[in-house]
Amino acid sequence: MPTNLAGRERPPKERIALMKGRTADDQDQATLSSISMKGTPICGGCHMVVARYAPQVLAPTGTFHRDCYEAWYFGRYGKRPSLLAAAGERHRYRVPGPQRTGQRAA
Ligand SMILES: [Zn+2]
Repeated sequence: MPTNLAGRERPPKERIALMKGRTADDQDQATLSSISMKGTPICGGCHMVVARYAPQVLAPTGTFHRDCYEAWYFGRYGKRPSLLAAAGERHRYRVPGPQRTGQRAA
C-alpha cells in the first residue's frame, strides 16, 4: 500500500518547496547586491568597495582608495604620488601618466 510509504518518508513536495524558497532568496539577494554594486568600483589595493564619495584615485589599472594607492605607490617608488584632482570632483584624483613626466624634452 502506498500509505505506508507516505507515512514513513517525508513527502518530496515539502523538500522541493524548501529548496525553491531558498533558491528564490538567494536569487533575490544576488539581484539586490548586484544592483547596489552597480557602478561601484572595487579597490585594486584592498579589494573592498570604494564608497561613492570616498577619496579615491582613478588609476589606469583601476580604482583605488586614496590611502591604498598612496601606500602602494610609496612602497614601490619610495615617495608619495603626485595626484591630480579630477575636474569638479574633489574626492577623486587622477594619476599623471608616468610616460608624460620628463620623457619629452620639448
Ligand atoms: Zn582600498
